[in-house]
Amino acid sequence: MSSEKTFSKNQLLQGVSGAPGLACGPAFLWQKAELHLPDCGGQNPEVELARLEAAIQTAIVQIKQLNEKLNNEGHSEEAKVFDAHVQLVQDKGLVNRVKKGLTSGMNVETVWNTTVEAYAAQLEAMPDPLFRLRAADLRDVGERVLRILLKVETRSELHEPSVVIARDLTPSETVSMKKEYVLAFCTAEGGPTSHTSILAKALRIPAVVSIGQEILQVPGGTQLLVDGSAGSITARPDKQTCEAFFARQQASNSTAQEELATAHQRAYTLDGKSVEVVANVGGAEDARTALEHGAEGIGLFRTEFVFLQRQSPPTEEEQYAAYHEVLQVMEQRPVVIRTLDAGGDKELTYLHMPAEANPFLGNRAIRLCLSEPEFFKQQLRALLRAGVGHDLRIMFPMIASRTELRAAKQLIAEAKEEVLASGSALPEKLQVGIMVEIPSTAVLAAQFAKEVDFFSIGTNDLTQYTLAADRTNPKLAYLNDPCHPAVLNLIQQTAEAAHKAGIWWGVCGEMAGDADAIPLLLALGVDELSMSPGLIPHAKSLIRKLSLPQAKEVLELALEQDSAASVRKVVKNFSHG
Ligand code: PEP
Ligand code: MG
Repeated sequence: MSSEKTFSKNQLLQGVSGAPGLACGPAFLWQKAELHLPDCGGQNPEVELARLEAAIQTAIVQIKQLNEKLNNEGHSEEAKVFDAHVQLVQDKGLVNRVKKGLTSGMNVETVWNTTVEAYAAQLEAMPDPLFRLRAADLRDVGERVLRILLKVETRSELHEPSVVIARDLTPSETVSMKKEYVLAFCTAEGGPTSHTSILAKALRIPAVVSIGQEILQVPGGTQLLVDGSAGSITARPDKQTCEAFFARQQASNSTAQEELATAHQRAYTLDGKSVEVVANVGGAEDARTALEHGAEGIGLFRTEFVFLQRQSPPTEEEQYAAYHEVLQVMEQRPVVIRTLDAGGDKELTYLHMPAEANPFLGNRAIRLCLSEPEFFKQQLRALLRAGVGHDLRIMFPMIASRTELRAAKQLIAEAKEEVLASGSALPEKLQVGIMVEIPSTAVLAAQFAKEVDFFSIGTNDLTQYTLAADRTNPKLAYLNDPCHPAVLNLIQQTAEAAHKAGIWWGVCGEMAGDADAIPLLLALGVDELSMSPGLIPHAKSLIRKLSLPQAKEVLELALEQDSAASVRKVVKNFSHG
């Protein structure tokens, strides 16, 4: 940790929102015990390997205890992080690399550490956030094994309710802390999609991340006010600031409760326009959470979770089970299931795909599926069979041309015949739509609208492709903002084309749950907003406070701005004015 620094009264530290909520309490610096690698050679390789194997077994026992702890606390979805840890620590490729390394005569601690770091660095270099999380997981589990090998157990221990400060936190650290003592997390590093943020959201603990090294210089015990939504921290607040903060905290708690209480009712604007508010999910557990938060359906089921982290492709039956479970949970509500959006950065080892220089511009999503038609049809058959008796909507990702769309629809036609030939039934109703996330498709939306039942705008990708800014690069965050007028223009073109052709359109990128963007999307005539389940209650309450004529005035102003930042300013003035 860096040395301590004196902070002035009411000193503001700005980071990025990791998880919403307000908290107040003394700073606690989360210290890792130093790990020193032995600088001598190892015993013979068999003995060193046996030590490693024993340490891995101990690590598995510890990880399973953490998994159980989360499950017992009712966080079964988050507990899956530790299932992944068990798999990672047993990875044959990793252990084989260590075995090879041991032939050099080096001690197992050093070989293990170097191998894990090299493997994690490879994962981290991939642009997809899922792999970055895997890299963090691997380092976490690697450190656990190393501690066991070195017999270093000590970590910080919380003794009173505190604001936990750290460089970054691993899932193991986050979960092993005594929750009753954690008021908030503040990290120097990490981002809104890092593990700290994901777990903090699930545990409903406010978090501010990416604050910078300055936060590590806060002396232990310093009083801090943490605003998880604004991503800010006030150090050494005076009495007045504290009182104002406590009043906000009280109001915010009761607002959250009120919003949840009305989340199950449909949201109408003040002038009676209704918008469907639905959820983004990765499986049945998320779908259940979505229902608890008032979701009226699923607007995006990311099916890649069914395909990743496996040695062989899921069978049609395995896929059927996964899709069917989500559809069953949602009963008759609409469920948009996106076909596989993998490839390039989200590598599927069993498809033997060559590495690509620009994975985000590579052979991915629908491009990959069309180049493997038999593999793709397996997914389509599983979807069709699972959709019987439900409101299934199949959605193709990354459509860039109508040729792709037609080829994908042709494969649905073939899959239908195959399902019928096998004696199974087809869904009574089925919609087929596309994600609009590539600028070419937004520009030609009027042509696409004649051939699909709906559009769902993937603003995460649409923004990165429109502004040529890698969505995973934190340095480009100022460009990667869907409120940029250029993105708003493309959404407007898409919206007009959809309604002219009589089809519905929605948004399933992060923009759909963004409080600044909601008035703009409403003014553009959005029919469906699909977001992370936890955001639904607040989004519905925002919609209820808006009127369309006012929102249209703001949109007009927004479209004249020159940056996303000034668009956000315009919306905020309107919301608070
Ligand atoms: C998007 O691009 O906006 C989207 C929802 O898809 P993903 O984030 O899975 O690429
Ligand atoms: Mg996308």
